[in-house]
Amino acid sequence: MPDTKTDTTTADATATPPAPPAPGHLPLAVFKELEIVRDPKNLFHQTIEQVLIAAELVGLAHHQQLMLAQPKNEIMVHFPVLMDDGHHDLFKGYRVQHNNVLGPYKGGIRYHPHVSLDHIKALAVLMTMKCSLVRIPFGGAKGGVKCNPRELSTDELMRLTRRFCSAISNQIGPDYDIPAPDVGTNAQIMAWFADTYAQMTPEHNRADTQRVVTGKPVEMGGSVGRNKATGQGLVYVLQEMLDELEIDLGSMKFSLIGFGNVGGWTARLLGELGASLVAVLDHTGAIHNEKGIDPEALSEHTAKTGGVDGFAESQAVEENEFYGIPVDVFIPAALEQMITPQKAKLIEAKVVVEGANAPTTPEGDAVLRQRGIEILPAILCNAGGVTVSYFEWVQNKSSVYWPADEVDRRLKRHMVLAARRVKLARIKYECDMRTASYGAALEQIGKVYDLSGVFP
Ligand code: NAD
Repeated sequence: MPDTKTDTTTADATATPPAPPAPGHLPLAVFKELEIVRDPKNLFHQTIEQVLIAAELVGLAHHQQLMLAQPKNEIMVHFPVLMDDGHHDLFKGYRVQHNNVLGPYKGGIRYHPHVSLDHIKALAVLMTMKCSLVRIPFGGAKGGVKCNPRELSTDELMRLTRRFCSAISNQIGPDYDIPAPDVGTNAQIMAWFADTYAQMTPEHNRADTQRVVTGKPVEMGGSVGRNKATGQGLVYVLQEMLDELEIDLGSMKFSLIGFGNVGGWTARLLGELGASLVAVLDHTGAIHNEKGIDPEALSEHTAKTGGVDGFAESQAVEENEFYGIPVDVFIPAALEQMITPQKAKLIEAKVVVEGANAPTTPEGDAVLRQRGIEILPAILCNAGGVTVSYFEWVQNKSSVYWPADEVDRRLKRHMVLAARRVKLARIKYECDMRTASYGAALEQIGKVYDLSGVFP
């Protein structure tokens, strides 16, 4: 079934005129210098604006701000794919390499009908920030193909993946740019990606090519714990923040948008710690059960039916009703820009924990803050995925493989330290958590730029 609700939420975002930027606000000067005509609804412009506000707070040099306001490389490819009925369709793919001052470019590949250049650029910026915040030696990138994977057969998906990989194969590499799964892609797609890249490499150099992607199946060099990593990282961050938020995990109620990789794992892991999932919204509908929804049973249902709609031990609710269900923690773990001002006015929660990338519009963010609802930002909460991707890359490089408890222990350390960094930055810069998380990320990038200087 197509993601029919996305259009509704996008339309929703346009209902209230967006707040104008504060006069004399620095990002406008950088926008002007780079000849970017600011569009308040453009996710890339929104993202850059938030990063530049934080950059000014931490005192990042002007030329460094300019470098971060534009990706280093924007690659766009068009390629034909043989469809099952014998005709060829032409697809458009992207790979945006935002910044590699901290290490090789790193970021997922998305298959979705709404993939666009500016969207991928925004997600690539977020990857640069995320890797820096959790202190892993990677830069930021993102890629995608404009397609609806739900409408493609397995064979069509494989041919599309192989053609896309071959189209960008000269632009990626195990020590240069390392893709991973994202919305609409998974471990199987990474396996086809790794195999295609290997086939395009002379045989005597092939031994180490599997590092070109992470999120591979464990049998092909993937790390144990990668599947659950984003949900697990979010749980570690939340645990670190609970005291401050005055929430008790054992009696905590939470709701979720999205029950895919991030939402599903978050639900199961929080459930194991005693928290109660009371409502879920996905592309098929919304469900509610005040006494608690069993995440395992819901996972079995979504695996069979493709969505949460029709889950027996719950009542179906309207989308707006879902947003207003009182919970301690509200977790958006689906698509970008879903929490518009209209939705933010409905949310009854102490804290919004962002599992998805950029799930809150700037105006939605302002409404939540006005209403005293704390926001734990995406670059902190969903960094667990790229952290375990880094572990996979390190394990591939050394050919030494770690057990699950070792992966968890290392992940927890990265996530807890990142959460503490954000808490400290909030105090230091007297700002909200989102600005603090960008600030903590930018401090590191600024230091490395200062140390390395600008060639020549
Ligand atoms: P996924 O494809 O596994 O799941 C996406 C979920 O979103 C599904 O449950 C789907 O039903 C739901 N959804 C789609 N359209 C919707 C709509 N219009 N309304 C409500 N729900 C809708 O994707 P994922 O891997 O879980 O990723 C979710 C988010 O987390 C994305 O923003 C992604 O970029 C981000 N993220 C994922 C990872 C990862 O490791 N998978 C890491 C970091 C960030």
